[in-house]
Amino acid sequence: MDIPKLTIPEIQKGLRTRQFSAVELAGEALRFAQAENPKTNAYLIFSEERAQAAARRVDEQLARGEEPGPLAGVPAAVKDVIVTKGLRTTCGSRLLEHFIPPYDATAVTRLEQAGGVIIGKTNCDEFAMGSSNENSAYGPVRNPAALDRVPGGSSGGSAAVVAQGTAVVSLGSDTGGSIRQPASFCGAVGVTPTYGRVSRYGLVAFASSLDHIGPFSRTVHESALLLNTIAGRDPLDATSAFAPVPDYRESLDQGVRGLRIGLPKEYFAGLASDSGGQIHKGIELLKKLGCEFAEVSLPHTEYAVPCYYIICTAEASSNLARYDGIRYTMRSKNATTLSEAYRKTRGEGFGAECKRRIMLGTYVLSAGYYDAYYLKAQRVRALIAQDFRNVFQNVDALITPVSPFPAFKLGEKLDDPLQMYLSDIYTITGDLAGVPCMSVPCGKTSEGLPVGMQILTKHFDEPGMFRVAAAFERAGGFEV
Ligand code: GLN
Repeated sequence: MDIPKLTIPEIQKGLRTRQFSAVELAGEALRFAQAENPKTNAYLIFSEERAQAAARRVDEQLARGEEPGPLAGVPAAVKDVIVTKGLRTTCGSRLLEHFIPPYDATAVTRLEQAGGVIIGKTNCDEFAMGSSNENSAYGPVRNPAALDRVPGGSSGGSAAVVAQGTAVVSLGSDTGGSIRQPASFCGAVGVTPTYGRVSRYGLVAFASSLDHIGPFSRTVHESALLLNTIAGRDPLDATSAFAPVPDYRESLDQGVRGLRIGLPKEYFAGLASDSGGQIHKGIELLKKLGCEFAEVSLPHTEYAVPCYYIICTAEASSNLARYDGIRYTMRSKNATTLSEAYRKTRGEGFGAECKRRIMLGTYVLSAGYYDAYYLKAQRVRALIAQDFRNVFQNVDALITPVSPFPAFKLGEKLDDPLQMYLSDIYTITGDLAGVPCMSVPCGKTSEGLPVGMQILTKHFDEPGMFRVAAAFERAGGFEV
């Protein structure tokens, strides 16, 4: 078994022809992941018992002649902001170092119902706030493609495990780019579905109106399969959509001849030449496959970064109020009164980025500034969403870069939060509009750093997005 290159179809064949059992595979995958982890620090927690139990269920089903599901035996990792019953969930924060959730997130339940085997929880920026994974209380993740560089964030661990081959698929979360940006930095496929497509039940809230759960994988087919498994209405999340879930695999072979693709002009200014060059090669390839390209405009793009950082900090300041030292969290040992217990727990427990966002969010929501900032940002968000509706009347998909630059060095942007916030300039619009978007590998820079190409389609048109991605992959686009 070539663990780091294993694919889902190979696993299904191997299990069904009795080449290996799910229990054997889980054991091998765990051993490999544990041995490799010191290189990247991508896993925070390994879940041997849970993995063995899930694998045993698969083996028993196979032995009884039952169908164990499309993800049978597949070693999977879950970002540590997604809760797992009985399995520590830290959110990359000191505050939750010992938190053991009493329930599973819906996406986790569905992954396991499909036969998936969760082998561990992945490192991330604290409460998913960051673009480099350097805001984790448990140390940064190193990029498997270049160990002195960041893997991107906030789902840096989930991107790294797939790229490194220590999991076949993983779940991440995306609020402003946290799936696509690390996917692009590490050279993986990363999908942010339509807002509401996947239940957020059990995803620890950062900015509820922007939070998404989505898959990482090495191939388009595997992300489509994983999304099929986790998508769909969930009564436990009032914002989850009723729209039926099509079989995304059916769109993969359709080809792209005649598809109309828009290139938003606002996304190609200021792009580092190396990354930009790769995206242009990707576009040329899609042209050869028969796509028609047109320049389009999303005129409110320039307001996206400020708009996002007002809305997400406002929501975060409210969501993070629950970590008060009374319920889930650690409690400061230095407090003597109730008020001190709140203040010291939060003061000692939260990292700098969370504090920055709580202060900013509280400020933009304050009585005197609500209209000037929060309300204004909500209006701008509506305009940004309208930009997308407008262009999708004329084109089937949009192609853009994922990030202005490839993976940067550890520590390089740590002292400059504004620079860090600009990492997300091409990804946050998709979250603000709620449209599906994904990053696919698009070759490497001259330094050998992975570059990602972003594909966006209209609400619930995941099939159209996967169709472009799969055609691109088949034609060798991942290595252009
Ligand atoms: N990097 C962005 C932020 O810091 C996005 C994070 C995310 O998508 N969770 O908010």
